Amino acid sequence: MKIGFIGLGNMGAPMAANLIAAGHEVIGFDVAGVIVEGAAQAGTAAEATAGAEVVITMLPNGAILRSVAAEVIPTMNPGAVLLDCSTVDVESARAVAEDARAAGLGALDAPVSGGIGGAAAGTLTFMVGGSEEAFATAKPLFDIMGQKAVHCGPSGNGQAAKICNNMILGVTMIATCEAFALADKLGLSRAAMFDVVSTSSGYSWSMNAYCPAPGVGPKSPADNGYTPGFAAELMLKDLGLSQQAAEAADADTPMGARALELYRAFVEEEDGRGRDFSAMLPRFETRGRG
Ligand code: NAD
Repeated sequence: MKIGFIGLGNMGAPMAANLIAAGHEVIGFDVAGVIVEGAAQAGTAAEATAGAEVVITMLPNGAILRSVAAEVIPTMNPGAVLLDCSTVDVESARAVAEDARAAGLGALDAPVSGGIGGAAAGTLTFMVGGSEEAFATAKPLFDIMGQKAVHCGPSGNGQAAKICNNMILGVTMIATCEAFALADKLGLSRAAMFDVVSTSSGYSWSMNAYCPAPGVGPKSPADNGYTPGFAAELMLKDLGLSQQAAEAADADTPMGARALELYRAFVEEEDGRGRDFSAMLPRFETRGRG
């Protein structure tokens, strides 16, 4: 397949490399001039789309996605699919899909989970919104870049699934960290705390798979000085998107709102920038109630 790939950053570059390794022809473009071995390099986003059957975007946010989409949609082949894998707001995802459809194109929003490791290993999970037909076109590419692709419904539903999942993740990570810090102050060992909670009703992915306490549970960024992993800034971005969506949909999400406040303070006023999102635990350790 001929594929245009726009946005070759931490995630996009390894995803494009996997498509090339599987024998697809990739034309890449990134404003930073990043080049992926084996890909043809385009000088503009529009150039990367020429003759492509699928155009993949992996960009920082919804505003950039909208501007790139406005540039490439008019230049894409009729019937081609615009496949956005970035994490963006639901509104931007739906607006871009609408513009693509109006131009006779297929459109999918397909944000991912699995991080940089999953992108490199080809084990991402895709959460996909858009038509059955566009999903069927992109399915072989999802199978190369990932281990699972869930078709969540019409356009925007992939982003909806992503931000709801990450809202739960942010909230459970905070709850897990504050409980560890409380357990410390109550004289409970971290090993005992993990042993009990990981097999009791307080268990979660944050506790069981990504334990924020070093030396306890499976290896996680906590065992590596809280080097990300999944950076606190990215969690802050996703919690912002979930609150933006909650506002637009008139949904009551008080825990998500509080998680956003805590991650905002952590990243913008404390020492969270550049650290893994599980570094909330040392944050709580040093605090009392006042
Ligand atoms: P990144 O900043 O490393 O990559 C984004 C790339 O887009 C950069 O190389 C940048 O130069 C390029 N870019 C920006 N504006 C452009 C434009 N107008 N035209 C062409 N290229 C442009 O970010 P990333 O970590 O690769 O993340 C990409 C997306 O994936 C984000 O939406 C992020 O939220 C999401 N995501 C990231 C992770 C992760 O662990 N990094 C996990 C899941 C989802």
